[in-house]
This record gives sequence, structure tokens and C-alpha cells, in this order.
Amino acid sequence: MTKTKIISTFGPALSDLSVLKEALKYADIIRFNFSHGSPEEKLEAKEKILKLSRELNRDIAFLADLPGPKIRVSKLENDVIIKTGDTVVFSHSSNAAPSEVPIEIDIFDDMKIGCEVSIGDGNPKLMIKELKNRKIICTALQDGRIASRKGINVKGVNMSAAPPTKEDLKLIEFARDNGFDYIALSFVKTAQNVKEARKLSGDLLIISKIERQEAILDIKEIIKESDGIMIARGDMALNIEFNQVPIVQDMIIEECRKSSKPVIVATQMLASMTSNQSPTRAEMTDVANAVKSGTDCVMLSDETAVGKYPLDALKAMSSIITYTEAVGLNNKEQIKNINDKRESIAAAAAGITRMCKTEGIFIPSITGKTAKAISSFRPESEIFAITDSEKLRRSMCMYYGIRGINLGKFSTEEDMTSAIKKHAEDLSISSYIIVFGKSASTGISDTIKCIW
Ligand code: PGA
Ligand code: MN
Repeated sequence: MTKTKIISTFGPALSDLSVLKEALKYADIIRFNFSHGSPEEKLEAKEKILKLSRELNRDIAFLADLPGPKIRVSKLENDVIIKTGDTVVFSHSSNAAPSEVPIEIDIFDDMKIGCEVSIGDGNPKLMIKELKNRKIICTALQDGRIASRKGINVKGVNMSAAPPTKEDLKLIEFARDNGFDYIALSFVKTAQNVKEARKLSGDLLIISKIERQEAILDIKEIIKESDGIMIARGDMALNIEFNQVPIVQDMIIEECRKSSKPVIVATQMLASMTSNQSPTRAEMTDVANAVKSGTDCVMLSDETAVGKYPLDALKAMSSIITYTEAVGLNNKEQIKNINDKRESIAAAAAGITRMCKTEGIFIPSITGKTAKAISSFRPESEIFAITDSEKLRRSMCMYYGIRGINLGKFSTEEDMTSAIKKHAEDLSISSYIIVFGKSASTGISDTIKCIW
């Protein structure tokens, strides 16, 4: 199993039961994209996966990825074919003439002349040349086609629509009431958006998707308010200058590690495997570089949702991660401001295991906070968070290097030590440390016991 976690997007490509079962040997988290299909069909798939994961004795977490205020072309009868230099007029569907391209939400007031408009994954691109009578008049910069329901991104404007949308709020309640672990908020602009979602989210953990310029500028505050971050490179590359994406990716990974918050590198990691059985050289390198930068998770989207080779994609990803992790991260010793007791214990535990080459870190966990703090130091040995709460174990699926294990309940330190000893022997681990709280009153681990 890899320390860097793998998120696999569910879709028709995983619907066959034997394919799904095999996929769950590699995936740590299953993502449901709520932009497509009904919530009920996702719930049905989730229950099936939960059952399989218990059969496999493997914790798999569930991520509900919410649509957010994605701007889309309305439903079209036919694709609109455009040639470079053509004039194309966009307007809100309530006010679109037959020759114009209707848009689902009214974005007129946010538009600026000279800005670049991208359709779908980025082709075709157009430029806004005139704004008149609530119509967005563009010149096509490329040949291409505009198909029904394709996404629209406009670079260099501040879109007023923000999450959570009305639809998001309904889906948050749905995810909360149906045992999902994480939700992802699309097109987050500010930390305030996360606070809004938090009012309804109950015990769901909130991942903010960073795909807009405004969010990059407010990244520290957004990280503070969120339970994790997704570097959503698909839309991001259309909303900022695309050549900045790799540097922004590394900056966000570093900021998340400083705050002990998990981070996901997402979109097109193995895109060519949607139709080919092997990844390109550039894709192999992309996955390896994300691992070397110290991300918690890497994500597959179309590759496992609608691709022809979902299992090959998962296996390729897993094997690249395994080799890269064996060689090591670029920046093992994360430079962090250690400013509380939990962080100090975590730093000490990670330091001991690194210097003394112990093979495991065992942490009896009630909230998981110590395990998560240790994970942010990216130790080379595995981190075993011990809890009989399946929910808590699932919440830790997103963190680098943490495996949840259930060793039942123990009431004394001796019971705990012997349960861990037995488990370590089963895993052929002979040197390890245990991080735990001797004085229950503080609620923070205060003891490191070394078995070496
Ligand atoms: P999406 O998010 O696939 O839901 O758009 C990821 C991204 O934009 O990269
Ligand atoms: Mn997106």
C-alpha cells in the first residue's frame, strides 16, 4: 500500500463488481462527482463499496464532490461549430436569440472586455470584444465546437457566484445524512464560503477546491477554515495563466503541510489512460513529482470514471508512487512553526522514527489529531492510528502515511502495549514507537514509548 493516498472517481467504468473490487485494493477514497447523475445512484454505489471494503478489510472513505457555481452552456439541440475569427454571442438563456449561445446563469455583470473565455477543457478559446444589451460578444481565437452543457471559464474576472449554491446546500444535507465522509466545495473564492457550508455540514469534513485566482490569493485563510484542499488543476488552468499552475501546486502543498491539512493533486494525472493502456512519460513524471513534493493524495477523474482502463490507471499510479516513495521526498523535514504541544510531540515522534529507522508509529486515537500532525512531518515509516471507530479511520484515509487499524478496546497501558506488539509481529515490524496519552485529562498525547 502506498503512503501517498489514491482518490478514484466513481463512474460507469467501475460499475462491474469484479472491476470495482479490484479497484478498491488500490483506492483509498472514492470520489462521487455530483455534477453528473442522481444523488440516489451515488448512494447506492456507496453502500455497495462500503460492503466490499468491509469484505476486503480495508477502510475506504467517501468524498462527495459538489458542483458549485459552475458556469455552463445550456442544453443545446446541436453543437455550435466555430472558426477562428468568428463572432460568437453568449447570453443568459432567458434572453438568448436562436443564433446565440445560451448560458445557464447570468454572468454579464462580471464580464470585462479583453478577457479570455474557455469552453470545456480549454478548447475553443474566445476573447470578449463587446458587452452590449446584456450580451457577451466574443471573437473566436481557435476553431472548435461548443457542445451542450460544456463548462465556461473566464480568465481575469471576479465571478460573483460563489459556493455553496442552493443545490450545494441540498447536497450537503444529503451527504451528511447518508454517511459520506468528505464534501468538496467547487470554485471556492474565500474562507467565508467554507464557513457558510460548515453551518450545515455536521461531521462532514470540508475540502476546498482551489480553481480560481481569488482563492489562490486567499489560500492561507481558506486552508485555516477547511479540513483539506484540492488543487483542482482542470478549471484552475483556465482561470489563471496556465504556465503558473505547477508553481501554484507546489506552493499550496507546502502551505497545507505547514498547517497539517491534507492536500490533493487533481485532474489529468494520467489523462491519456482514459483511452490508452499505458501512461505517457509526462504523466508518469507528473505523478512522481506530486509525490516528491509531499502531497497527501493524488486523484484520478475520467481515468476511473469513464475510461477504458480504470484498473490499469490505478495500478500505474500505485506503482509510480511506490517506487518514488522508496527513493524519498524532496523535502522530508518540513519546516514548520511548531507552536503547540501536539505539534511538539508529533515533531519528536517523526524525528525519532527518522533517525532511529523504526518501522512503525502506533497511535491510539480518539480524535486522530496526533496521527494527522505526525503525518504532516512525512515520516518514512507507516503511521498506524488505532481506533475502533470506522468513521474516524475513514476520515484518516486522506492523510499521507496513516493507516487506521482496529485493535478493539483496551483499558490499561499493558493491554495496549501487548495488543500493539502482537499487531506489529503480524506485520513483521520489530522496531516501532507508540505515541499516547498517559494522563487522560489533557486529551493530548504526552508519551512516546520506543520498542527498538
Ligand atoms: P472538476 O474539478 O473535475 O469537478 O471540475 C477538478 C478540477 O477542476 O480540476
Ligand atoms: Mn473544477
